[in-house]
Amino acid sequence: MATLTAGVAQMPRSGIRRIMDAAWQLSEPVIGLHVGEPSFAPAPHIIEAAQRSYAEGATHYVPNAGIPELREALSEKILARNGFPVEPRQVIVSAGGVQALHLAMSLGLSAGDEVLIPDPGWPNFAMIARLIQAVPIGYPLNAENGFQPRIDELESLITDRTRMILVNTPSNPLGTVMDASLLETLVRFADRHDLWLLSDECYDALTFEAEHVSPARFDREGRVMTAFSFSKTYAMTGLRVGYLTVPIPAARDAAKLQEALVSCVNAPAQLAALAALRGPQEHVRQMAAFYRDSRDAAMSLLTELRMPHIVPEGAFYVWVDLRQTADGPIADWALRLLAEQRVAIAPGTAFGSGGEGWARLSLAADRGDLLEGIRRIADMKNAR
Ligand code: PLP
Repeated sequence: MATLTAGVAQMPRSGIRRIMDAAWQLSEPVIGLHVGEPSFAPAPHIIEAAQRSYAEGATHYVPNAGIPELREALSEKILARNGFPVEPRQVIVSAGGVQALHLAMSLGLSAGDEVLIPDPGWPNFAMIARLIQAVPIGYPLNAENGFQPRIDELESLITDRTRMILVNTPSNPLGTVMDASLLETLVRFADRHDLWLLSDECYDALTFEAEHVSPARFDREGRVMTAFSFSKTYAMTGLRVGYLTVPIPAARDAAKLQEALVSCVNAPAQLAALAALRGPQEHVRQMAAFYRDSRDAAMSLLTELRMPHIVPEGAFYVWVDLRQTADGPIADWALRLLAEQRVAIAPGTAFGSGGEGWARLSLAADRGDLLEGIRRIADMKNAR
């Protein structure tokens, strides 16, 4: 057989998939807290816009960087809700947030370049870097540093191959949110080392008490690219629409790359995204309220059961400390939990080696399932 690229060989397998595959093999029902997907459907006006677009013949190619009306609406949204100005030409519509991240890394990284990524962090960050033969280097987010990046730790990771730092707020899997002063410090760190700062803000609409801040607000030198998504905000995961903002000098090349990567994003899905932005936002508020109530219920129960955890300030995940509970690697313990208690969780090491002993539970699950799942985790702990 002809040879596969090094990027493919070096790409790790998803640790969440391992749990998913094991859960599918069981015949009994499983409580699923492992997947980060809203259980909601998109609001009716979003579905209607998609249906109408098919009926009206929006089935042809559209511009590489997205439908002009959508790019216009996105530049207005970014100014109003994210607080930084972008021209429509700086907004590139992508096939979900994940393709926005791939586009950004393709623009800013060559083979062998290093990108600093959070550990623990969403597994796709490292996967995308590997795919383009760049080298992901984890920076620690742990109890010792308050689960926030520390500049001295970042400084120690800089080499002459470092080209980018990726920042994710609100964080998947931690549920933490970074404040304005930290984000400004991170942009200045990128200035000092002449790096791209890639900001993943796919959960920008899902913060609880904390304010969501975009690091692009502090960008003076044109080094911040920001990835967003419709998936979580509007429960549109399967429609696959996201977007990337880039500095003006990179805009033309970013649009050009879309030709090679996807040609253009599915036109009816883009029209559905336009309806989502322009239409009523009540549904977004209701979903955010649901996640907040689930968070509060989960926090009370975890506290009652004496299970240490981080109180999430955004996204829809709880990061639970199982170091006193799990005997052995958390990935193996999660498989035992599944077999013995029929609860699927995402083991912390699926997000990097810094997740050893921890697990991520999804607040997007049915509330009854979430609470029952937590009780069963505690039962497993007590049965030892
Ligand atoms: N970034 C983070 C941190 C995520 O958790 C996800 C999805 O889980 C994404 C980006 C991308 O989502 P999508 O490609 O569905 O827009």
